[in-house]
Amino acid sequence: MTVTRFAPSPNGPLHWGHAYSAIVAHDLARQAGGRFLLRIEDIDGPRSRPELADEFRRDLEWLGLEWEEVPAQGTRGASYILAAQRLRDAGLLYPCTCTRAEVAEAASTIGPEGPVYPGTCRGRSDVGEEGGAWRLDVRRALDLTGPLTWHDALAGEQAADPLSIGDPVLVRKDLPASYHLAVTLDDAADGVTLVMRGRDLFAATHVHRLLQAVLGLPVPRWHHHALLLDEDGRKLAKRRRSKALSDHREAGENGLAWAEKVRMGKWPCGNRLEKD
Ligand code: GLU
Repeated sequence: MTVTRFAPSPNGPLHWGHAYSAIVAHDLARQAGGRFLLRIEDIDGPRSRPELADEFRRDLEWLGLEWEEVPAQGTRGASYILAAQRLRDAGLLYPCTCTRAEVAEAASTIGPEGPVYPGTCRGRSDVGEEGGAWRLDVRRALDLTGPLTWHDALAGEQAADPLSIGDPVLVRKDLPASYHLAVTLDDAADGVTLVMRGRDLFAATHVHRLLQAVLGLPVPRWHHHALLLDEDGRKLAKRRRSKALSDHREAGENGLAWAEKVRMGKWPCGNRLEKD
């Protein structure tokens, strides 16, 4: 059965890029007689604004989508802690106290997700009183799994290349999981078979594929869709105050009609889809 999902983080309102992602995921599930899930990804600590989750539900309803909601990430801490412990027991995690600035300073390569962590803390086993984050030792994990591949609906078969990102943080100093660990565990727990998300997360999938292999999780397929650009050709972003779905909804506009337009590739507010 096809199971797709929409997994927004409640740290800013939804814009048309989110609407596009949700509509495509919804329609693919419906066409296949499958399930479309909503998962609120509220593990961003103080950046999470729980009240936004209700806005998201109103937005999706306004667009005429139907979904099944699965537990929010904030309720899943125990499963993250358990998985991190397994990885630690397998010798695949090491503690790290480097700050973002230190990583940027020490990095000699810039990967698809920014400065590549040069492994300063690799080999450490204890951070003592001060605490720290925990990173995945990618080389060691790859030694266990061997080469891996994954499939993207648009880009085709991919050779997993987690080394391009460097050793990612899996457990944050202040939180039981980073995005990478939480999303991989949740998609598996929710039975997601097709992970639909924007192309900006394409490189993250290399890490997720590796995590699936070391944790023995099922391997879904992916569909990384093109991103929506604004009139000036820039990616839509919450921080640039791209017009929110809720602005249109609260102005009394017809969400069903907007959703139909999006299905036909017609975008509001001069937005357009980035070219391949
Ligand atoms: N929660 C992430 C976001 O809102 C998306 C995660 C995903 O689709 O994998 O950007």
